[in-house]
Amino acid sequence: MYLVGAGPGDPELLTLRAVRLLQRTEVVVYDHLVSSAVLDFVAPSAERIYAGKRRNEHTMRQEQINALLVKLAQQGKQVVRLKGGDPFIFGRGGEELQALAAHGIAFEVVPGITAASGVSCYAGIPLTHRDHAQTCLFVTGHLKDGSADLDWPSLVRPNQTVVIYMGLGGLADICRQLMAHGAAPDLPIAVVQDGSIATQKVVTGTLADMPERVTREGLRSPCLTIIGDVVKLHDSLAWFKPETTATTS
Ligand code: SAH
Repeated sequence: MYLVGAGPGDPELLTLRAVRLLQRTEVVVYDHLVSSAVLDFVAPSAERIYAGKRRNEHTMRQEQINALLVKLAQQGKQVVRLKGGDPFIFGRGGEELQALAAHGIAFEVVPGITAASGVSCYAGIPLTHRDHAQTCLFVTGHLKDGSADLDWPSLVRPNQTVVIYMGLGGLADICRQLMAHGAAPDLPIAVVQDGSIATQKVVTGTLADMPERVTREGLRSPCLTIIGDVVKLHDSLAWFKPETTATTS
């Protein structure tokens, strides 16, 4: 069993290892974040199983996915478990491997470019910069019972960049909490939709005005949020012109 990272969307960001495995696999089990352009690399003869997972719309529960992977491996099939970004960063890759390990199934892990890295590059926002940030935090803004459960004091320290995965639903709450814990209302923030693919959209603003901007722009999932002074660099470093990018080539 191969647990493979598919990167943020642009198929050019796949590793050679990922492409080789996709081209010869018998089965691929993939998540909703895997782009269709990446799936184009899967062997035409391979069985494709969609394992879903969008907020509030879990096509398969995690235990069902684990059981499916175990079953396929026990059938002796060549299986690629394909996940958006990197499988070990907010991807539950570890949980799936624990299920395999418990059944004595051998596996290999192929890293992918995680959203923080791929999306920030395509948005022209360096996550660290000697003048602005010496630390970078990756956190998940996934909400439990309607409120974001984050370590707020650690997120408002100076000279750092905070990258929030899965933060769109809770964005207003996150901005409010950061300001309540001492962050400046004019702290720069960017929300990037569909990073690295043709539909990429970057919206920049401040903690104070971002929730309203995001609503006005009609952003939708997946979105990555980047907070910190480095966001100012977007104006001069944005290089990716999504509207001129073909989705297949
Ligand atoms: N394992 C993945 C993350 C899975 S969590 C990785 O390493 O990237 C899913 C979250 O990742 C999304 O809600 C979004 O915040 C972020 N994400 C993934 N791909 C993205 C993309 N192309 N553009 C913007 N955000 C993305």
